[in-house]
Amino acid sequence: MSLPSSAPLGRPATSARTPESLLRGLARGRDSRGARAERLTHIHRVPAREASPAPFPDWVTPTLYGALTQSGVGELWSHQREAADAAHAGEHVVLSTGTASGKSLGYLLPVASDLVDGAMAPTGRAATALYLSPTKALAHDQLTRLEALALPGLRPATYDGDTPTQERRWIRDHANYVLTNPDLVHHSLLPAHERWAPFLRALRYVVIDECHVYRGVFGTHLALLLRRLRRVAARYRSYPTFVLASATVADPGAHATRLVGMPVRPVTQDGSPRAAMTFGLWEPGMIAGNGADGSPPRRRSAVAETADLLADLVAQGVQTVAFARSRTGVEVVAAAARTHLREVDPTLEGAVAAYRGGYLPEDRRELEQALRSGELMGLAATNALELGIDVHGLDAVLLAGWPGTLASLWQQAGRAGRAGEESLAVLVAADDPLDTYLVHHPEAIFDAPVEAAVLDPENPHVLGPHLAAAAAELHITQEDEAYFGPQMVPLLDALVARGILRWRPRGWFWARADRASDHVSLRGSGETVRIVEQRTGRVLGTVDDSRAHAAVHTGAVHVHRGDAYVVTELDLEDASALVVAGDPGWSTQARSVSAFNIVRVERSQEWGRLSCCFGAVQVHTQVTSFLRRLPTGEVLGEHLLDLPLRTLSTKAVWWTIPPEVLETAGIGEPDIPGAAHAAEHAAIGMLPLVATSDRWDIGGVSTALHPDTGLPTILIYDGHPGGAGFAERGYEAVRTWLTGTRDAIRACRCATGCPSCVQSPKCGNGNEPLDKAAAVVLLDVTLAAAGPGCAPGSGAGGGVSRPVTAAAPRRRGQ
Ligand SMILES: [Zn+2]
Ligand SMILES: [Zn+2]
Repeated sequence: MSLPSSAPLGRPATSARTPESLLRGLARGRDSRGARAERLTHIHRVPAREASPAPFPDWVTPTLYGALTQSGVGELWSHQREAADAAHAGEHVVLSTGTASGKSLGYLLPVASDLVDGAMAPTGRAATALYLSPTKALAHDQLTRLEALALPGLRPATYDGDTPTQERRWIRDHANYVLTNPDLVHHSLLPAHERWAPFLRALRYVVIDECHVYRGVFGTHLALLLRRLRRVAARYRSYPTFVLASATVADPGAHATRLVGMPVRPVTQDGSPRAAMTFGLWEPGMIAGNGADGSPPRRRSAVAETADLLADLVAQGVQTVAFARSRTGVEVVAAAARTHLREVDPTLEGAVAAYRGGYLPEDRRELEQALRSGELMGLAATNALELGIDVHGLDAVLLAGWPGTLASLWQQAGRAGRAGEESLAVLVAADDPLDTYLVHHPEAIFDAPVEAAVLDPENPHVLGPHLAAAAAELHITQEDEAYFGPQMVPLLDALVARGILRWRPRGWFWARADRASDHVSLRGSGETVRIVEQRTGRVLGTVDDSRAHAAVHTGAVHVHRGDAYVVTELDLEDASALVVAGDPGWSTQARSVSAFNIVRVERSQEWGRLSCCFGAVQVHTQVTSFLRRLPTGEVLGEHLLDLPLRTLSTKAVWWTIPPEVLETAGIGEPDIPGAAHAAEHAAIGMLPLVATSDRWDIGGVSTALHPDTGLPTILIYDGHPGGAGFAERGYEAVRTWLTGTRDAIRACRCATGCPSCVQSPKCGNGNEPLDKAAAVVLLDVTLAAAGPGCAPGSGAGGGVSRPVTAAAPRRRGQ
């Protein structure tokens, strides 16, 4: 390893080193496993963006204008102006632009102007606004900023679980800008809306910050909560304007519209300036399996590879933060980087630290100070949001594995870059088909996003409980179908039959003595199983009931927030799993048998002799045993479990292929199960390409002959009762999704299948049978029949992408 002693990247320096030359230098560096150039699959230059300024609108109240100019805001960016004008005119609007583009000013202008003017009016509290954020920390951060502006007449206050009772009363009666979260609206504001009547009567704006996080089941809950809020507000004759802020996702307008239940105008042209960034995509090399038990070769881990890169960068004086997905990953990156550095230069060993969150404030300040002074040159950390420390302005960012969404990717990459200086970011692919795909398909990252935030406000499993809560707030009438849709009446009747509601000629009424909102948790669907520490009785967290059998069966090694626990007993009756802390040195994998039946086809498309459907299904699963496995892959033993069969009613996307079509393509009958199973695994892993889902939210079943279809069938389903919207998005973007799936398998350089392509960490069949080559053929046949669709990421965006000559990315259709 050569160690030039030039000045660090990004600092005023005599060195002519650019981020790109640095990146190529890393790729040239050699280690025991051969040339690294092969691993750098792509270099993308994210160009600097010119600022597009806009003047303040005339309607901004002079007090606010004065306060903003005094705080240094001289003019606006064009997107702030566009969103502010729309909201001021009463149009629902969603502002979806990059990290640090000043989205909050877009909603602050109309909201604060109206509130300040209203407060100055002789009538007193003439306008109020509600601000919803997914986290307490974000609401407090907003409050600090508002207080710094010291606007006379603006009375902001945070209202959350920690707010004392006497303060709550003051807030209800006097605050005109209430910063809170969805849980408080659900548990406190709506059930006690009479007490909030003056506030609700004056409600002019509802601001929803970071609205891209409301997806899947959580998104469905928020969508229904907002319908309840609109219904109660209408009771007080107020019809607030909704202003939403979102990270960049595909079609933010459609997401916001579904969330709010009314048309929302998208503002997506980012007018804020940005420094250029060089972005490298990196795929770790293959390492041989240990051979002893026939374990196949697999890719070197993203964590080990990231540690090498971190050490190289620090040794060259480049201040770098490396993000890993788990706390264990963070420890490994920091420890391995220190070991490498010790070999090169013992004085550098102490220049790398691990940060796992949860530190005391003084520790955090110390860390920030060490970063600023340059004493600390490398930091390994879990995702940026929970950091709680300011690490802006570093030279380079390393990402060990795809962080889950484009929004997270840009948020983390955005930690690099001193004012106006070019920065470097490198995404290191983890063992996952999506990661494999992305490092070979830069357009899916750098061009127009294809991943969409999804939710399904019609999910009866979520809608039912919200209807009960709504009836407790205000009795429901037939007209409320305008908020809750056509499924409302049948669901209300079912609630009446269960004695939860009572029907009267005037409508449906809450029939019980307790609080309806206590029966609905906004964070999950249906029941949960508590994870309880055996020694202390402390509840560490919960797992969804639907996942409990596979994740926390007796004997399971369960990783919770990066720490390992062993389950000593799963008590189904008590809905709890008792655990003891500690890593026994092996992992466990549940084995199960699954089958499904089709309840209802809701949408379908014919592809010649193939067909693709979306609809309601029942998935029947029984966890039968579990395997104990060493980190090398060696199996220590299989242990039987006695768990009941479970049935999940959910939504799914599936497609069928007649065996003759497969036969013609060279897949004989005995090869169908392996082909379908491998395609199913990769398709599950690739769904996040088009829907912001987590691999663990999705399940799949494939079969060579299904009784309902009479054909080989591959089914991908939402892992939540009633569905979450992921499978539906898969159906809508099926060509993009399955093209990506085929390309991910094809791009993987393993011979017969590995975790980067067709193996799945949660397979109930122990990854048997899997036929990688036949899966590619099966997907080729499927895509040829489906015809052309939209390729991911065509058009917008910017920048110059170049394949790295040593390893040109494979192209589609090759
Ligand atoms: Zn592979
Ligand atoms: Zn499987």
